[in-house]
Amino acid sequence: MDKKLKMACIGIDIGGTNLRMALLDNRGAIIHRTKCSTDIHHGREAFFSLLRKGIESLLLVAKDKCYETVGLGVGVPGLVANDGCMLVSVNLPPLDGINLRDELQAMTGLPTVVANDVNAFAFGESVYGAGRDYRSFLMVTLGTGVGGGLILDRTVWTGIDGVAGEFGHVTVEPNGRLCRCGNYGCLEQYASANALVAAAREIMAREKDAFGEALRDKDISTQKLAEAALDGNSAALALFAEAGRYLGIAVASVVNLLNLEAVIIGGGVAASFDLLSESLKREIHARAFPIPAGRLRIERAALGDDGGIIGSGALVMDHLFRGNP
Ligand SMILES: [Zn+2]
Repeated sequence: MDKKLKMACIGIDIGGTNLRMALLDNRGAIIHRTKCSTDIHHGREAFFSLLRKGIESLLLVAKDKCYETVGLGVGVPGLVANDGCMLVSVNLPPLDGINLRDELQAMTGLPTVVANDVNAFAFGESVYGAGRDYRSFLMVTLGTGVGGGLILDRTVWTGIDGVAGEFGHVTVEPNGRLCRCGNYGCLEQYASANALVAAAREIMAREKDAFGEALRDKDISTQKLAEAALDGNSAALALFAEAGRYLGIAVASVVNLLNLEAVIIGGGVAASFDLLSESLKREIHARAFPIPAGRLRIERAALGDDGGIIGSGALVMDHLFRGNP
């Protein structure tokens, strides 16, 4: 490699809605970024052409700014095998069954790492974010669903098949609500944005003005519910406390199992961290052993919407320079 060129990589975060791409330097700083609609309904070929255009434009920026692009990291929602094959992609069905790593490597000629999006986010927090001071932690994203990523000794624990860390599908109610995964009572059905909104609707069906006269059924969102809670609305406060309690039930088991240093919470609902954290901590302390519960730190993620691109870039850099498979 030409030592005069600075090193860069490309990080890509494929979301169900947005496709974010960025050129990153070797310290994880964003040199240039693009964002567009994923538009997966246009099919696989159109999507790959979108990826190609985005990557080409970033490679041009790199060249222009005297960077050598050494790798490509991709975070994608769903179950991703350790070899980069898309096993199940809930939001991106046209990608099911394809080996995204091989496809992108062939397209770009760049060494490529493909990971589950929350695993990528977790690794980004580990290297550059709220997880820097911890060797081992659980990342939890509270968004439309509940995502998980497990960092053990500064490495993403993907499991033998690549599908570990699905914290949102830990059972918290044995006979609870049916989850989209087929199980009953998954955490995702109690602590995600969708779950909060669904629970709020159930309450409003019984009591129209439960969240204040101004909040109509069609306006319900976690943001509106958080506003109501911050205004002191007791029904809204109880909803967030309940989500925190369920989160605590699941975290307590993980804490007893793994004696982690921290749980890092990200995603849209994490903006309401303060509304959840009290009941979350209370539940952990009520259920887990005092030693692991007492040392556990609960932190908010630091990278926000950039977590996916920064984490994906960090993964490929780690792959190239730490020699991980
Ligand atoms: Zn589930």
